[in-house]
Amino acid sequence: MGREDFDGHVKQVNTERTHAQQAFHLLAKPTGAVCNLDCAYCFFLSKEMLYPGSRFRMADELLERYIRELIDAHVNAPVVEVSWQGGEPTLMGLEFFRRSVELVNQYLQPGQVAEYTIQTNGTRLDEQWAAFFSEHDFLVGISLDGPREIHDVYRVTRGGRGSFDQVMRGLGHLRAGGVRFNVLTTVNAANEHRGREVYRFLRDECAARFVQFIPVIERVSEAGGDGEDPWFSWRDRPLYTQTGELVTNRSVSAEGYGRFLIDVFEEWVRRDVGEVYVQMFDTTLANWVGERAGMCVHCETCGLALALEHNGDVYSCDHFVEPRYRLGNIGEQRLVDLVGSERQKQFGLDKRDTLPRYCRECDLRFACHGGCPKDRFATTPDGESGLNYLCPSFKLFFNHVSQPMRLMSLLLAQNRAPAEIVQLYEKTDVRRGRNAPCPCGSGRKWKLCHGRGGRIPPPAEEALSPADRGRRRAGIDRPRSTDDTSRDERKNLELAEDRPDHPAARSEPPLTRLGER
Ligand code: SF4
Ligand code: SF4
Repeated sequence: MGREDFDGHVKQVNTERTHAQQAFHLLAKPTGAVCNLDCAYCFFLSKEMLYPGSRFRMADELLERYIRELIDAHVNAPVVEVSWQGGEPTLMGLEFFRRSVELVNQYLQPGQVAEYTIQTNGTRLDEQWAAFFSEHDFLVGISLDGPREIHDVYRVTRGGRGSFDQVMRGLGHLRAGGVRFNVLTTVNAANEHRGREVYRFLRDECAARFVQFIPVIERVSEAGGDGEDPWFSWRDRPLYTQTGELVTNRSVSAEGYGRFLIDVFEEWVRRDVGEVYVQMFDTTLANWVGERAGMCVHCETCGLALALEHNGDVYSCDHFVEPRYRLGNIGEQRLVDLVGSERQKQFGLDKRDTLPRYCRECDLRFACHGGCPKDRFATTPDGESGLNYLCPSFKLFFNHVSQPMRLMSLLLAQNRAPAEIVQLYEKTDVRRGRNAPCPCGSGRKWKLCHGRGGRIPPPAEEALSPADRGRRRAGIDRPRSTDDTSRDERKNLELAEDRPDHPAARSEPPLTRLGER
């Protein structure tokens, strides 16, 4: 992605944020929790218990009502986001989605466009699905946890076999069909120590240009007697609710998510800024420049990302599909009324209003905002409840990236591409001794950690998707070098300007030795 592409992307993100302030996101689950896989950490599988006896298929009448209400609720918005999730939504079959596009076209108002997204495990995708997604410009999210030996630890079929090959085959169809896709990777006990390896796999083997990392935190009230998780699948358990102060052994550790992100960041910031979009890094930068963050988890308030079940029930959030958070049913109330209800507003405000004092007084609050309420089951050092389980991770990560985030926000303030930071890192890295400690904080030597291996050779032309071949021909993915930036320009990167008004500037030294933290 070049400078203009990046600027275009930033504009697009900004536009989306502006809309988000008026609009909302609704994740529709046409098959409810039903899925063809049996991922060990998927608490959502247990949600089948909410609807005993159901066929778990959204009826045509309800589909039409949903589409009509969704568009009605976006009467003043030029873009209507139509998002499908599960369970596994492709179990509905292609005809269901063809029909949904037909209905969207029928109800869209003049001047409005629809943006389609779908989150899938990828195992059922073939040429027909890819052609359909490509025709209607779907953005397809694929769930993939890393290379085979990592992915197959938890992401298994009902027969207990790894799903890696099926997912990669589905991804291959998307790439061959030129479909826009992003990868959703969970951070769990099996991959939390392998951030850089996972990231490189996604970037180099999967050609992912949009990546989301989601921490796995499975709450439980009691562990098994031997310290092991007493079950492998949530299908065997009672309904999962956001209760309990322990986590399963599959869950990421309280510091592990932060270390994983740092491991990825130290790779990304040296070569991929502006080329690979990592949702968490974009969100962090947004908070650093004072814009609304893309991830609700790190926004001050939330409540604009709801879930619709296969029977029309609307819940406050995809993570709170449980009886206490059911707002109503679109067969009985208008969707716009459910979304705008006092109850839902309060749900969103509670994210800010229930923060413990420890968070309210935290220097990193502007970037963190206490994380998602579902994970606030830890206790602060002074004994108050409601601290996020991932607080140690947030502190590690946000402190670690504070200097580069400041630098990128200053570049943006000068109307320059944040990607210029890559040259600064190169400049610092060439002066670093091979045996010096790696700046990622792993304790390993630079030469054995992020300084290892240098550049990864670009993939062969024939291994690229048509879209990536186009990018390469356009010179978008050429390797960078310090020659790309003139010496004078590099001098200008000694950014003397500062923004003392911003909370991030309060306790930081001037940015003169970037990368040497
Ligand atoms: S509860 Fe968590 S996931 Fe749900 S909208 Fe709020 S911050 Fe987002
Ligand atoms: S870093 Fe920890 S203390 Fe600070 S706002 Fe986040 S969760 Fe709260």
